[in-house]
This record gives sequence, C-alpha cells and structure tokens, in this order.
Amino acid sequence: MEDTLAVYPGSFDPMTCGHLDIVRRGLTVFDRIRVAVAYNKDKVGSGLFTPDERVAMIREVSSEFGDRVTVDSFSGLLVEYCRKVKAGTIIRGLRAVADFEYEFQMTMMNRHMAPDVETVFLMADQDHFYTSSSLIREVIALGGHAPKLVPELIEKELIKKFRP
Ligand code: ADP
Repeated sequence: MEDTLAVYPGSFDPMTCGHLDIVRRGLTVFDRIRVAVAYNKDKVGSGLFTPDERVAMIREVSSEFGDRVTVDSFSGLLVEYCRKVKAGTIIRGLRAVADFEYEFQMTMMNRHMAPDVETVFLMADQDHFYTSSSLIREVIALGGHAPKLVPELIEKELIKKFRP
C-alpha cells in the first residue's frame, strides 16, 4: 500500500509547541506529514518571520521526526498545493470553539474546489489549548517568557527579533 501523506498548512509565525503536538498526533494517523508555511506573495513582509525563516525553524524543531516530516512553503491556493504534492488530506488543529467557525468556512470552500481532498481535525492538547503564535509573539515582545509553549530555539529567535 502507498504511504499516506497529509499536508499541515498554516502561518506558523512562528511554530509553537501546540503546532508540534498536532504534528506528533498526525504521525499516529499518517505515514508522512508535509508542514506547509502558507504566505501571500503580495504581502511577503507582513509577518514577523519571513517564510524562509519559518521553514528553517520548523525543520530544526521537527528534526526528531526524521524523514516522516518535510517542511515547505507555498503561496496560492492550498488545494492546488495539495494536488501538486499529491496529498489527499489536510490536517488542521482545533483549539477552543472559537476556531470552529473559521475552520468550518475554510473546509467547506476547499471541499467545494477540491472534493477529492479531505480535511481532518486533530484536537489540541489541553496544555496548548490557549496557545497561539500571536499571543506568544506578544508575550516575548513585552519581555515575558513562554517556557513549554514554544520550543527553546524558537523563543531565542523571537527574543532576537524583539530585543536585538
Ligand atoms: P493559520 O493562520 O492558518 O490559522 P496558524 O499557524 O495559526 O495558521 O495555525 C495552523 C493550524 O494549527 C491551524 O489549524 C490552527 O488551528 C492550529 N493551531 C494553532 N495553534 C495551535 C495550538 N496551540 N494547538 C493546536 N493547534 C493549533
């Protein structure tokens, strides 16, 4: 049987322990996961980290998974990207109920465009239920720390950005 491959897309600006937990859970279901940093090529400077910086950091923090996890970036439609890399599944993480509405809309639109690509949701660990990249960026920018919520290497990169 062929390997099962899922795409885990997101902004990952930057990747948090919550995202890594979803990757770990995803690997219990799929043989391989492709973490895909989504960016808008007309607004490349809009995030804190560039897409290349995000990819490089994700590669480092997901090295423990070996070649079962690959990391890439893409601009444009997610379903087109899935077709390009021949992935039949999209993984998304769900935290509080607040995620649901947005994820529901995205899933329906993607299904409308590509009925052959299925979206599956994995529930965040309770330790990461309230973690988001934006909140962690804010905490570090204000001089705080987020141990256990963001990998050490990424916390260091955040500190470099905010307090060079
Ligand atoms: P996006 O901008 O596409 O929502 P994010 O990088 O914020 O990108 O998140 C990517 C995916 O990971 C989304 O499905 C999001 O719900 C999920 N996610 C974000 N933070 C967490 C977390 N702490 N635990 C589990 N899943 C999360």
